[in-house]
Amino acid sequence: RELIVAVDGPSGSGKSTLSRLLAAALNYINIDTGAMYRSVGLAAHRAGVHPEDDQALAELCQSLTIEFARSGAGERVLLNGEDVSEAIRTPAMSMMASRVSACSAVREAMGELQKSMGEKGGVVLEGRDIGTVVFPNAEVKFFLLASAAERGRRRFEELRAKGLQVDLQQTIAEVEERDAADSNRQHAPLVQADDALAIDTTSMTIEQVLQEMLRIVNS
Ligand code: C5P
Repeated sequence: RELIVAVDGPSGSGKSTLSRLLAAALNYINIDTGAMYRSVGLAAHRAGVHPEDDQALAELCQSLTIEFARSGAGERVLLNGEDVSEAIRTPAMSMMASRVSACSAVREAMGELQKSMGEKGGVVLEGRDIGTVVFPNAEVKFFLLASAAERGRRRFEELRAKGLQVDLQQTIAEVEERDAADSNRQHAPLVQADDALAIDTTSMTIEQVLQEMLRIVNS
């Protein structure tokens, strides 16, 4: 049977890497919901929409399309047909994503999109509220954790590998700032589902976490 697997947790907890690997191992589709909020953030930025203007954000969501395309170059994110895979990964777009994702109209629109993409099963959905709000009935729910210092270090390495000039202490501070914003907001604060299995990845290798996740999915 093709399951719905939810992978939630804070940024830098290993969600993206592990969701991608888990989906590949299971031959499932991987859905990166953070990329959707980042795309809305980019669209708002380009349209000059203020990230706290709920009305304008609601209209913006009605007028845009977000799709995932799997090509030789890996998984691509298309905003209105344009490949924005790189453009949505900057620190500025991380913060924009966090801000627009606090808007309930944005969450509703993205939630609907996620449901339509995932309801048939055979999917790994990676996000913040997949196991709590979008798919509360998901068959398997993971909640990945890691210390803020380790998550900041991972983000730092990731950005540096892309050739971006970044500072480690500042990256850790940004991770902590985004955590605080994500957990204190009114809509969809980052909380662990009661029936989610938490894995602290701080001192685990990617391979160890993947094996643990596969063991649980297959049990
Ligand atoms: O996971 P990623 O770092 O790409 O997510 C960017 C931002 O989008 C997060 O900081 C969070 O505020 C928001 N987000 C969300 N719900 C999701 C995925 C991401 O609110 N399901």
